[in-house]
Amino acid sequence: MTLRIAIIHNNEEKSLTVYSHLLSLLEENKDLVVVEQNPELVITIGGDGTLLSAFHRYNHKLDEVRFLGVHTGHLGFYTDWRDYELEEMVNSLCSDRDKSVSYPLLDVVIKFEDGRQKHFLAMNESSVRKGSSTMVADVYIKDELFERFRGDGLSISTPTGSTAYNKSVGGAVVHPSINALQLAEIASLNNRVFRTLGSPSIIGPREWIEIFLNTEGKHMVTIDQLDVSGGGIQSIQYKIAKERIHFASYKHMHFWHRVKDAFIRED
Ligand code: NAP
Repeated sequence: MTLRIAIIHNNEEKSLTVYSHLLSLLEENKDLVVVEQNPELVITIGGDGTLLSAFHRYNHKLDEVRFLGVHTGHLGFYTDWRDYELEEMVNSLCSDRDKSVSYPLLDVVIKFEDGRQKHFLAMNESSVRKGSSTMVADVYIKDELFERFRGDGLSISTPTGSTAYNKSVGGAVVHPSINALQLAEIASLNNRVFRTLGSPSIIGPREWIEIFLNTEGKHMVTIDQLDVSGGGIQSIQYKIAKERIHFASYKHMHFWHRVKDAFIRED
């Protein structure tokens, strides 16, 4: 049975070299067919950012598509294989085709004052910010007011996104097997007058967050690499999506090994 494979790469010189090597290896195997439409497997060549782009290209077909990342820079969180392991990787595609691991995604609904709604899926995070002035927002958890936030903004991340922007704003690193969301504050105002929890919160699978914006004008809402900034946003609702991202589990790597390699190891 054939396996339909799409390849997405960045334009780094190394990635282009790996791309042509991978193409020639796939051409040697009649069961592995390179396609652009309706792939069953998407192989990315580059970094975590490349895999994020591929996710957004195919996120309307998540129940049909698995992903696999070849990294051409440093070890990534979404990229498993090194450029020198391509032959082993292609061989494993033939023997191990139905295996996959899946991770939670973030379901984002932006609600506008005029009643419109926009729906998105995020793999890393979504953030909401005001720009130059203080953002004031009421944070509801499970439809109950939790706190009034004042500060630069808020970030809501998935477990796999916890090592990205979330970590830069002081959020915890979360193992991707945990089905949860993380709410992290971005420079909250905390003094005798204004008070927020002041620490990141982990939200469970049956809970949802809604952020009601209390400041006029434009807000910046990001969804991974996408930016849906604009005026007239009333609230943003976040929950764990029913969809999950499936990774071809041709190679397993200890999550905390990746964390150590990315953030601690000095060599
Ligand atoms: P970018 O600004 O070109 O690169 C952002 C960096 O984040 C890259 O080094 C990328 O790794 C890394 N990254 C992406 N996902 C990651 C993950 N899950 N864990 C650890 N590192 C991760 O942006 P981009 O490549 O388009 O990716 C967008 C993402 O960048 C956003 O979702 C956000 O999480 C992150 N970001 C972080 C900051 C910050 O920490 N201050 C600022 C802006 C954006 P590779 O080099 O392997 O691609």
